[in-house]
Amino acid sequence: MATWIVTGGAGFIGGNFVLEAVRRGVRVVNLDALTYAGNLDTLASIADADHHVFVHGDIGDGECVERLLREYQPDAIVNFAAESHVDRSIDGPAAFVRTNVVGTLNLLEKARDYWRGLDAARRDAFRFLHVSTDEVYGSLGPTGKFTEQTPYAPNSPYSASKAASDHLVRAFHHTYGLPTLTTNCSNNYGPFQFPEKLIPLMIAKGLAGEPLPVYGDGLNVRDWLYVGDHCAAIRRVLEAGRVGETYNIGGDAERANIEVVRAICRLLDERRPLPDGIARESLITFVNDRPGHDRRYAIDASKIKRELGWQPTVTFEEGIALTVDWYLDNQAWVRRVLDGSYRLERIGQG
Ligand code: NAD
Repeated sequence: MATWIVTGGAGFIGGNFVLEAVRRGVRVVNLDALTYAGNLDTLASIADADHHVFVHGDIGDGECVERLLREYQPDAIVNFAAESHVDRSIDGPAAFVRTNVVGTLNLLEKARDYWRGLDAARRDAFRFLHVSTDEVYGSLGPTGKFTEQTPYAPNSPYSASKAASDHLVRAFHHTYGLPTLTTNCSNNYGPFQFPEKLIPLMIAKGLAGEPLPVYGDGLNVRDWLYVGDHCAAIRRVLEAGRVGETYNIGGDAERANIEVVRAICRLLDERRPLPDGIARESLITFVNDRPGHDRRYAIDASKIKRELGWQPTVTFEEGIALTVDWYLDNQAWVRRVLDGSYRLERIGQG
């Protein structure tokens, strides 16, 4: 049985990744600091699995990381742990530097020391996979796509902190030979996403019949990838990616924010019509744009497709319908996030 240390595995993407890895029989040591974005409810279905160990701890805590490496002797580390919300990074960048930069550096140093102590066969097989974002490349004009060769040009404190962590990962490969892999993915959506992000926020507000706030003119474009496809890409990179390389991951699904919100409105109107037949599109309200808001992101994922045979399996239209249905079917999960009760679970976590 392979053993992976997964960091940030109580968050959105990390949670989806851990659920699937545990279902596939991987022993997962899940290290998560349970910030506001960490939610143990997400892991309820594997609470009794013997091969899932949840550890409440910080990737920046050297002793904790060292102890886990010694105790569990992992074959890989997959680093999802991060402060991830752009708006929060504008209000308070320091936490982003602490976790995304200093925390990742700590993880790299401990991983390097552990990896050096392994026997030759295990040293060859060990992997450190760092999960990152397409936002490190900055903003595109109306044409073109980000490739792995696109120069970094981060524009928000969030993307700057992720860019710094990507550079450290690269340096640890080049300087110490640590077998690293980096993935840069576009916007994810799907089950268990915290309702501060565009899609779950619009679903929650739309369901409640509240105004739907859209930044600026709503024409900022993102590429969207269903979270299950992102997790499959990470597994594939872990399995067959070339060490020291980076892989762009995307869904070939560019949509303007306003199109995404309209799609959600249509699905909610079909599934849960508002009284008096009010169309949810009429609730769309344009609000002041986010400072420094990148206009367009688009990913060229041809490298991972060509080298590793990965491709997205869920179209945006399928994925958005699956996501709306998941939120409608899991209102208890949403309610506990919205009323804050999901955080009470943390007390007493060792
Ligand atoms: P998230 O905010 O939902 O989850 C982050 C998790 O990390 C939470 O469980 C949180 O408690 C944990 N965490 C935060 N600080 C920590 C620390 N110091 N030590 C240990 N755990 C800590 O984030 P997400 O959307 O699931 O993103 C996961 C990763 O994927 C991030 O690295 C992010 O940059 C990257 N990413 C996200 C997207 C996206 O669309 N959401 C796209 C591309 C890449």
